[in-house]
Amino acid sequence: MTKCGRWNRVGMGLAEGSWIRMLAVFVAMVGSGCTDSLVDTSARRVVATRHVDFLNDDGIHAFLCGTGIPMAVRGRAGACTAVLVAGQFILIDTGPGSWANIADDQLPASRLSAVLLTHFHSDHIADLGEVATQSWMLGREGPLDIYGPEGVEQVVAGFDEAYTLDRKYRTALFGKKNLPSEAGEMRAHPVALLDSDGTGVVLDRNGLKVVAFAVNHGPAAPAYGYRFEYKGKVLVISGDTSRSDNLVKHAADADVLIQEVAAKNLVNRAADDLAGWGHARLASMARDALGPRFYFTMAFFWKFDYRI
Ligand SMILES: [Zn+2]
Repeated sequence: MTKCGRWNRVGMGLAEGSWIRMLAVFVAMVGSGCTDSLVDTSARRVVATRHVDFLNDDGIHAFLCGTGIPMAVRGRAGACTAVLVAGQFILIDTGPGSWANIADDQLPASRLSAVLLTHFHSDHIADLGEVATQSWMLGREGPLDIYGPEGVEQVVAGFDEAYTLDRKYRTALFGKKNLPSEAGEMRAHPVALLDSDGTGVVLDRNGLKVVAFAVNHGPAAPAYGYRFEYKGKVLVISGDTSRSDNLVKHAADADVLIQEVAAKNLVNRAADDLAGWGHARLASMARDALGPRFYFTMAFFWKFDYRI
């Protein structure tokens, strides 16, 4: 067997476009003389998709692809939840490092159809360019729809501009047929809260209804939570917020609530440590300006399953 022969067999069964996209990912590895087993394993991980069945059953399936905090911590990605429902793969927030978790769990990247941003803090949006680019390279066939509060146009325009040259390079290398540049672009959809419940419809198709509602996140306003309704089941994602009457109103009948939480006593203890280490400014921020969300965010489930 020649070097990297197994990898070639993996590619044989793929459609031309997919094969070229996989090649785009692995050309650097092959060039560096990697071994059969490394390339073989890595190629399988890139092209494999798990959980595809979840797109087409009666459930709402949620995956936590980022539960981190505003400060960078190795091994924990920023905020991100993946939802597979009604034939659609939807991401809520794209915090730093979240795409690596999506790829690692082999979620069906080529089926990604929308991203819903709760607000525009960096720990919720930093991987947006990678989400758009990597899903494009893995087969997403049209521009990616990005929904969010007012301001989403500015955020999307910035990422789109930053990645324009990258798309140009890749399309020039692999051809318009295999990697059309326009499919790598993003389209911004600002969601206004219009009706009497203070909600705004984000998606209403294939039996799935997704609405946005306002949550309290201080100066990061407007900030949204999202409510998914499908075949009598309800999933609510709070976004970055503390308890509020509006959140309770929209989550009261939820089967699952994914809610960011913090432990004040642990925050205060961390602030004491920071002050003791001479980081008075950080300690003050933890106690005052950013409060309990500064140090700990995590998902707390009233009940948890991949399927509700
Ligand atoms: Zn935030």
